[in-house]
Amino acid sequence: AKVPDLNRRLVAAHSKSQGPNVSIFYKQDGGVVATSGSSCTLSGPDGDFLDCANNVAGVGHSHPRVVAAGVKELSNVQTNGRFLHPGRERYVSKLLATLPDEIDTLYLVNSGSEANDLALRMAKLYAQIKGCQNPEDVICIDAAYHGHVQSIVDISPYKWRQCTDGNRASYHKPHVHIVSVPDAYRGPYRGPDAGPKYAAEVKEIQSLTGGVGTFIHESVMGCGGQIVMPEKYLQESYAAVRERGGLCIADEVQTGFARNGEHFWQFESYGVVPDIVTMGKPMGNGYPIGGVAVRREVAEAFASSGIEYFNTYGGNSVACAIGEAVLDAIEEDGLQENAKTVGQYLKHRMTSLRDKHGEWIGDVRGEGLFQGIEFVEKGGDDIVPHPALCKFVVDGLKQDRIITSRDGPDGNVLKIKPPLTFTDANVDELVGSIDKWLGLAAAVYHK
Ligand code: PMP
Repeated sequence: AKVPDLNRRLVAAHSKSQGPNVSIFYKQDGGVVATSGSSCTLSGPDGDFLDCANNVAGVGHSHPRVVAAGVKELSNVQTNGRFLHPGRERYVSKLLATLPDEIDTLYLVNSGSEANDLALRMAKLYAQIKGCQNPEDVICIDAAYHGHVQSIVDISPYKWRQCTDGNRASYHKPHVHIVSVPDAYRGPYRGPDAGPKYAAEVKEIQSLTGGVGTFIHESVMGCGGQIVMPEKYLQESYAAVRERGGLCIADEVQTGFARNGEHFWQFESYGVVPDIVTMGKPMGNGYPIGGVAVRREVAEAFASSGIEYFNTYGGNSVACAIGEAVLDAIEEDGLQENAKTVGQYLKHRMTSLRDKHGEWIGDVRGEGLFQGIEFVEKGGDDIVPHPALCKFVVDGLKQDRIITSRDGPDGNVLKIKPPLTFTDANVDELVGSIDKWLGLAAAVYHK
């Protein structure tokens, strides 16, 4: 299809003036110009798109309640956390009420990366006080992504494994211990009993090192390819880490804020309570805000260094007003329930699709409105990923005006993570289009 002039000009301007490694969706066919949005629709000069990729706009693009709260507070005042504000205290107490009772203290920041960086600082001090042997060491999962600041790139193998200039190994820092992706579909251990086998890797690091300060995990690995933690994995890993004075961070930046449907936080579905929960993305529905929620004891260990914590924008009055409006919208619009019921319907439709297209759909996984389809050339014991097919489907969906993305170490997992306002009709449109493109793919890829 012909690329419109506006797209051509914007891509050229972007390529000339922004960093060469700052990417654009669908760059090869001119990108998508998005200048307005509403619920699950993104719009621009090219018309409307069904947005199945924006979990940041959790309560829907440009939610009127969130917009009104932001505009109102911007016209009232924009102050930092050193000034008292009733809105901030109201917001913090509402947000903490969504978490288990033990997690009773919140630090407000501006992004998921900042949240994880602060979480690491806190964990180190706590572990030191607990007499942990290697308080600065971190166990992270291969293919994890936790953010873009230096301390967090260190614990984000998803990111640094992209390095192609010959220096990849230099990104693997001595304090970082990497365990396998607990992928019960395609990893070294498979099936319903895989969890404890993956947890054994965490236990082994604990016994080899004498104990590390931090274990960090995403509650479902997004960039890693929508990997759901297998049963008992977190329970056993947490126990092994805590036994030697370490603590456990659940990164809920992608998965938090009712997306799971059954629960407000994804970690709840595994029956664990983390020591630290980090959050961001949907927290402000697009406005930059993040948070680190901890047990009081962890916050006290952090404060015991005597170093003040100050963050110019963290906890500013506008962010808090927007954050509160997001929580209110989730509740008033019944979005957790919607994520549950529409998520179940999505799972049902995708499972039928797998039955229809046989070997090509190796796995359908996830809960609520955070799901994925893994495309494979071949299933069975020697699974062969099929990134080309996944790309074919994602590009086809774009032609049908549906935005999705693909990820995972092999780029063969289609990710579905729309705003929580997604409807059954949206599911039908999405799955109908995937079905169509898989049908067309048969001629290209000779099933
Ligand atoms: N954690 C996870 C799980 C993420 O997916 C991301 C962003 N994709 C981050 C942290 C970093 O958040 P941010 O980009 O807001 O810094």
